[in-house]
Amino acid sequence: MSGIYSDILGTVGNTPVVRINKLAPEGIDLFAKIEAFNPMGSVKDRLALGVIEAAERDGSLKPGQTVIEATSGNTGIGLAMVCARKGYPLVVTMAENFSVERRRLMRFLGARVILTPASEKGSGMLAKAVELATKHGWFLCRQFENEANADMHSRTTAPEILRDFDGRRLDYWVTGTGTAGTLKGVSRVLKKERPDIRIVVCEPDNAPIIASGIPQQFAPDGSPAVSHPHFRPHLMQGWTPDFIPRLANDTIAAGLIDEVAPIKGNDALKYARLLATEEGIFCGISAGATFAGAMQIAEKAPKGTAILCMLPDTGERYLSTPLFEDIPVEMTEEEMDIAASTPRFRFDMQAPAAARPEAARLDEPSTDATEFVEKVVGSNEQPVVLFALEWCEFSWSIRKMFAEMDIPYRSVDLDSVEYQKDNRGGDIRAALRERIATPTIPQIFVGGEHIGGCTETLDAFNKGYLQDLLTRNGIAFKAMEVDAYSYLPKWVHPR
Ligand code: PMP
Repeated sequence: MSGIYSDILGTVGNTPVVRINKLAPEGIDLFAKIEAFNPMGSVKDRLALGVIEAAERDGSLKPGQTVIEATSGNTGIGLAMVCARKGYPLVVTMAENFSVERRRLMRFLGARVILTPASEKGSGMLAKAVELATKHGWFLCRQFENEANADMHSRTTAPEILRDFDGRRLDYWVTGTGTAGTLKGVSRVLKKERPDIRIVVCEPDNAPIIASGIPQQFAPDGSPAVSHPHFRPHLMQGWTPDFIPRLANDTIAAGLIDEVAPIKGNDALKYARLLATEEGIFCGISAGATFAGAMQIAEKAPKGTAILCMLPDTGERYLSTPLFEDIPVEMTEEEMDIAASTPRFRFDMQAPAAARPEAARLDEPSTDATEFVEKVVGSNEQPVVLFALEWCEFSWSIRKMFAEMDIPYRSVDLDSVEYQKDNRGGDIRAALRERIATPTIPQIFVGGEHIGGCTETLDAFNKGYLQDLLTRNGIAFKAMEVDAYSYLPKWVHPR
């Protein structure tokens, strides 16, 4: 991918195919199509763009109309990008058990995320989306039935594969399936253009709803009528909802699937980790699972076989899930040993006091700075004052507490651009130190009275003293029952 794009949407698709080196069994040409290269890091960016543009073309989506969809996350993240760019408000329904990274990403892109109970499974979040769309007249994407989903893959994913493997052997194409947009859209084109190719669909081993051969029952509108009897909760977010979607059903009926590969949850995790550590390929759980399916084929295939598998998304979406369970936050013993192998910057030794550059600047305050502090601290208009550093986490903790309690305050941010000129911030800091005999920042004052630094202020809240002082000064605030220490950064105080 190169050149200048007129907007982000032009960067959807055209993902690279990468050879697997160390993990491939000898004599097998194993390749992965890495969908994390899409702008929002998953294969679903394709569907999001395809569905929205198809609806724009056929008029079912009006300018400025709200878009709604039920999604395990990646569709919502892709839609959030497309809707942000094109100016459609977006509402997403999502079962509460999908990773929190997903919710926050969608909200970051401006979407609303409506959670549904995990106990109601995929069909619950879908029913909620239908309910909301009907009530409010919103455009429902219907990714599980919408032909535009599969069409986008027939138009982009499949031709990309044909182009990249032009003149090369390709015996197997391996994929997982969620909506089956990828499966239906790609398999029908590959089978037509390269009829000898074998299509392998991976499923969680504990939820073999396609492998069971038991047909899905559909309602007259094409939506699934009941949960499939072989569905069980599984690890592969984005795969196998509790029903066989219409698009998957079409693929089965058309006889496009040659094999169904059952995948163990532990193999999905194992291969996602191995792809990262052995190949430098960073992908999510369903990608690890699809790769596990490709390895099942690779291990029994004759030498010379060429296999391509899809890796649907990036691993960054799974920091809060079992994929990262064994990845520590704190230093391991091995890392501690490395740290200890040189003398400085260690937690187990006091660092020799270095000459601090600020120290020089904290000499004698100017009269102007002394008067400034006097005026700010004694102000009747703004009796709550915080002398702070703009982005310091302790200053941030106090600001967050004040904001939640609706306490009006003035924050004098000594290191902000405003106070950097002629080292005015340093000058004020020196004046402050002279006044209260403490060099640290932040320092908090209420009605002229010095409360102290961050911890002292949190203590004053926990003991009720801060609230008393606010009341005595006639400052209204929202009473709250919290441990004020919860406002501290988690690395200082894990509450
Ligand atoms: N993996 C992940 C992580 C997904 O989010 C999805 C889509 N839900 C899939 C795989 C399956 O893709 P498709 O919907 O095209 O079958």
